[in-house]
Amino acid sequence: DVADLPGVPEWLPDHLRDDGIEELYPPQAEAVEAGVTEGKNLVASIPTASGKTLIAELAMLSSVARGGKALYIVPLRALASEKQADFEEFEQYGLDIGVSTGNYESEGGWLADKDIVVATSEKVDSLVRNDAPWIEDLTCVVTDEVHLVDDGERGPTLEVTLAKLRRLNPDLQTVALSATIGNAEALATWLDAGLVDSDWRPIDLQKGVHYGQALHLEDGSQQRLSVQNNEKQTAAIVRDTLEDDGSTLVFVNSRRNAEAAAGRLANTVRPHLSDEERGRLADIAEEIRDVSDTETSDDLADAVADGAAFHHAGLSRGHRELVEDAFRDRLVKVVCATPTLAAGVNTPSRRVVVRDWRRYDGSAGGMAPLSVLEVHQMMGRAGRPGLDPYGEAVLIANSHDEVDELFERYVWADPEPVRSKLAAEPALRTHILATVASGFARSREGLLEFLEQTLYASQTDEGGQLERVVDDVLTYLQRNGFLEIEAGELDATSLGHTVSRLYLDPMSAAEIVDGLRDWERGASDSTSASGSPADPQAEPPADSGFTTASELAENAAGSDDDRDPDDISALGLYHLVSRTPDMYQLYLRSGDREEYEMELFEREEELLGPTPSEFEEGRFEDWLSALKTARLLEDWATEVDEATITERYGVGPGDIRGKVETAQWLLGAAESLASEVDLDAARAISEARIRVEHGVREELVDLAGVRGVGRKRARRLFQAGITDRAQLRDADKAVVLAALRGRRKTAENVLENAGHRDPSMEGVEPAPDVSVDLD
Ligand code: ADP
Repeated sequence: DVADLPGVPEWLPDHLRDDGIEELYPPQAEAVEAGVTEGKNLVASIPTASGKTLIAELAMLSSVARGGKALYIVPLRALASEKQADFEEFEQYGLDIGVSTGNYESEGGWLADKDIVVATSEKVDSLVRNDAPWIEDLTCVVTDEVHLVDDGERGPTLEVTLAKLRRLNPDLQTVALSATIGNAEALATWLDAGLVDSDWRPIDLQKGVHYGQALHLEDGSQQRLSVQNNEKQTAAIVRDTLEDDGSTLVFVNSRRNAEAAAGRLANTVRPHLSDEERGRLADIAEEIRDVSDTETSDDLADAVADGAAFHHAGLSRGHRELVEDAFRDRLVKVVCATPTLAAGVNTPSRRVVVRDWRRYDGSAGGMAPLSVLEVHQMMGRAGRPGLDPYGEAVLIANSHDEVDELFERYVWADPEPVRSKLAAEPALRTHILATVASGFARSREGLLEFLEQTLYASQTDEGGQLERVVDDVLTYLQRNGFLEIEAGELDATSLGHTVSRLYLDPMSAAEIVDGLRDWERGASDSTSASGSPADPQAEPPADSGFTTASELAENAAGSDDDRDPDDISALGLYHLVSRTPDMYQLYLRSGDREEYEMELFEREEELLGPTPSEFEEGRFEDWLSALKTARLLEDWATEVDEATITERYGVGPGDIRGKVETAQWLLGAAESLASEVDLDAARAISEARIRVEHGVREELVDLAGVRGVGRKRARRLFQAGITDRAQLRDADKAVVLAALRGRRKTAENVLENAGHRDPSMEGVEPAPDVSVDLD
């Protein structure tokens, strides 16, 4: 009974009852018995939708009640806002909630007064690197989706960050929440924690496989579920669920497939909608179109008007929220999603269909099966407690043999054990530098001792591998000037400290510094010798195509051809940051290679550093992908409209935002690095950064910086003759109003932000002779 919880604030039982929670679910009760409200460490490995959030809340609220401060680590930014909304419920009892995701180089001082902070593991890592003083005040840390330590890319950050937090404060309560995994006890050993390992679910889940005209369920029974003429299996299941007044969540393996499936399934849903539902859906479709003016937005709105939707990481946040809300309100009857959604956004549904159980995997060079853990997480979204009698999760088989295969592989299978991915060079490059720079280790031995606290160390008896990688990484960091090693002592250089605080991969920093130096020395002139990419007949060059150090020195010595850093083009800088490992580059599609080879031929002069020889397949390909990414950024910064960009590069609006934000961050870092190594390129870099931030050409940089203006309005104002912030401040209000197409509220807001004496638009009429229309 929620009245009998030890250690929690006195208001909590009533609050829970108001939320319809009278009794704890069994795994929650086990967690309380294991001391989660009394400061004890805990690993909870329980199925999706079985109430992990409440376990986290019990831990955090009781810790705060004892005068402490709690941190909740989320794996994805998209989940941060959802958790924030959950925890803000507690503000009515005087608690302060803070969320921190972006902006890596700050120490987040304002978070010092918060009782509960929500952040991604990358953000927490960066706060530690920047010595956020309040980190030491933490008394409780909760990690959501801790099984993601298994993720090669992001897992190591989580592992190292937890080790640091626990080292800074040995009494820190650590609570780790996980989907059901094969080796939960390994996580508990690593974290010195009690363990709740349970299969309990609040609502029954039936797993099954659909083939032909039947749904084969795991209890051995079969349901007739027939496929009508020309109908696909998924459509048949969606229709069958609709006839029972239920909704379906369909998981597919790519964004494109999600969009295509939603478009098709809209036809299945449409006949089942009532007039009232159609009306409300039409309103939501309008809101979706208002979020952005792109093809994705249009397609989504069209599908939603018919009660179907797609959901993937290419959507902007506004789109995602509208879709999730409409699905929860049971207006949208089917959502076709990529697996990102399964990771935690709380959108249960009567049935779940896992349509694709393979997806493209670059490292496997083709289609690879999803893990059992992922498929079980998707399946776990089936069944809404209190609304559905039970949930059903269905895999789709295309042959009789596949029915058996899918039962073996997923329905009856246990999830894989989670294994640390720390002992890999890219991960350790970053984390070793940061560990030394923030003083967690001062010698090679100290470093190895620190790494003993990771999951990796607890999972391996063979120390050799880790030591070998550590030594390789130390050599790399020393050679590139990030670390000094003297008589076994490790010390970060000033550059090393900067790189750690900027949250850069050291390899990105090296790429940026080298590129800027090359430019200064005019060294890229020497590249034409390495084989023009437009000439496929050329013989492979004798050397590797790299400019050697002595060539650089020679160039620098006879340096009449030193180039002015102010002449670095924005494209050159976008390319420089796009080729670092911190930027996800756009893929080259078929046909792209030729296009970007031409582009390279035309614009090679602008790029910083030598073009790799085309005979170095991997590096040359990366160089071209970086060019494609850089062209997208350049298009954005020359006011090409969003719809054109999404079409030209085959991306969604959310991807443009993502690339722009990363470029902004990396260019900001490049500015700091340039001044750190005395390169005088700050002006060019900062201009390129501001242009990409606002998505405008040079002449609009000042105007677009006024809050509420943005790229389109800046252009309209400019066309009306208002060319900078100062002119806006003293502008004729009638002209401003006309330029902003008669929108009074907007005009007042913009004038106020520009510092206009009297921004009121009362009685002002748009100047008739101003006509600007960019559309
Ligand atoms: P997950 O384990 O996936 O994080 P959640 O914590 O989001 O699952 O819980 C799923 C749903 O169950 C939420 O809507 C939550 O309010 C509800 N819930 C959690 N605990 C209880 C309980 N003890 N009694 C009733 N409902 C509960």
